[in-house]
Amino acid sequence: MPWRNVLRVFEGVGVMERDYDVTVIGSGIGGLCAGALLAKRGYRTLLVESLDRWGGRLSTVEKDGYKLPTGAILLHRDGPLENIYREVGADFEVVNLPKTLHCRIEGKDYQMKLNNPLTLLKVISDLEISGGKLARLGGSLAAEIGKKKIQQTLGKGTKNPFARGARLNFREWLMQYTDNEVLHKIFDAIIVAVLVCHSWELPASEFFSYMTALGALADAGIAPRGNVELIQGLVEAIKENGDAWLSSPVRQIMVRKGEAQGIVVEKEGRDVTVISKVVISDTGPKRTVDLAGSDNFSRKYLREIRMRLRAGPAMLVLAASDAPLLPENAHFMVISGARRLVCAGDIALLCPDLAPRGKHLSYYCGYPLNSLVPMEVEWEKTQCQRDLEEHFPDITKHGEILHMGVHDVDSDFPGARAWPGYDMPPETSIKNLYNIGEGVRATGWSGTNKAATTAREVADMVAKTLDRC
Ligand SMILES: Cc1cc2nc3c(=O)[nH]c(=O)nc-3n(C[C@H](O)[C@H](O)[C@H](O)COP(=O)(O)OP(=O)(O)OC[C@H]3O[C@@H](n4cnc5c(N)ncnc54)[C@H](O)[C@@H]3O)c2cc1C
Repeated sequence: MPWRNVLRVFEGVGVMERDYDVTVIGSGIGGLCAGALLAKRGYRTLLVESLDRWGGRLSTVEKDGYKLPTGAILLHRDGPLENIYREVGADFEVVNLPKTLHCRIEGKDYQMKLNNPLTLLKVISDLEISGGKLARLGGSLAAEIGKKKIQQTLGKGTKNPFARGARLNFREWLMQYTDNEVLHKIFDAIIVAVLVCHSWELPASEFFSYMTALGALADAGIAPRGNVELIQGLVEAIKENGDAWLSSPVRQIMVRKGEAQGIVVEKEGRDVTVISKVVISDTGPKRTVDLAGSDNFSRKYLREIRMRLRAGPAMLVLAASDAPLLPENAHFMVISGARRLVCAGDIALLCPDLAPRGKHLSYYCGYPLNSLVPMEVEWEKTQCQRDLEEHFPDITKHGEILHMGVHDVDSDFPGARAWPGYDMPPETSIKNLYNIGEGVRATGWSGTNKAATTAREVADMVAKTLDRC
């Protein structure tokens, strides 16, 4: 490596010399991926995490012998995330879901293929919804997805979802073919479950990009012994060429003359100053501004954050039971027409190590009716509870709710840091300060794959910068 950054760490009054090239703030999956890629490519990397566990919303908390996910559960195979694991030599151990996905529509169950989103059209045709231009809907959906595929092959993805001609939201796009509310609710439930916003909040082009990317992925699965074990390989990859500190909240990103200089981090009760050439933040664009101080950013950048960034809320319910609560053999299902719930999974059915022997652990996600106003927590919980009792009545007989978490838009761990298309670029207006993670733009991806895509993009940019030094 042509450039070697000499890093000085001031601990208390003493000064220590170390040679990190990059500091990464936050060990969400974005931070872990960026840290592991850069360490593997030969740059000395320091990862700092404020909590006492790695992974942020892709982690595990143990309770009564159950391994509870802190957010994400379904991980796609052969996508951007698994590719990073391969590149850094970490083991991506995930148990695949069966290829059939249950859909509960207005109380009735149907099946579609997990890796072929167009089988949704078959489900729709089975619903016997008449009227509108349904025959044209299928053709147009396939055509839009096909168009995206060609654009992506030619490297011409829609960079700006607000560009002229790309302004329809998905609900408006669908309205061209049908105003049937059952159909609108189905698409809304799918969009909420995978893209964490409502169909009227999502630029239509983002939906087609997502469906195109999804169609190219082979399978999806679950980490058999919990997410925190799955991510350990990335932590090890970082430690091979750097350090990773838990329980170390960053207090400040240091900026001088418009350039990031390093961080101030609390470690073992003392403030430690770490000077580095590049700082990468996985804490979300808003938190990055707080840490670096808004005075250091351009007005244009601050305005863009204010005007553009829109987070998505979510509710996560985890229940223990002696017997399955989902329909027979349903590992995972999408629910349309419920008050709040949009998906459910019996995760210990597929991965028995997530629960004590013979027990079930089920996972439910819900979404409020409005993403723009803060949730009324007790009301939202009541609505979730009513959905659970109505759709999974055995929960009252055999089940115990272990966790009912509200991930509101302004919480540390929202459902999503940004709706697709309402996210920020990775570069900030401060030199050598980058954002990664789910609040950053990565067309066609959501959740962990989105965070991984942003991590790779920033790792590539940082490598170029460091090689020039
Ligand atoms: C209920 C729910 C269900 C989901 N289901 C799925 C799913 O099935 N599949 C999927 O792919 N995605 C899913 N997601 C989304 C997925 O969890 C996220 O996209 C992904 O984990 C985002 O990672 P991230 O890199 O943005 O960082 P985050 O997970 O947001 O982590 C940020 C990290 O930064 C740390 N941090 C913050 N401030 C500081 C500081 N000052 N100093 C040091 N560290 C700091 C935090 O403690 C945290 O560890 C779900 C999310 C939720 C909430």
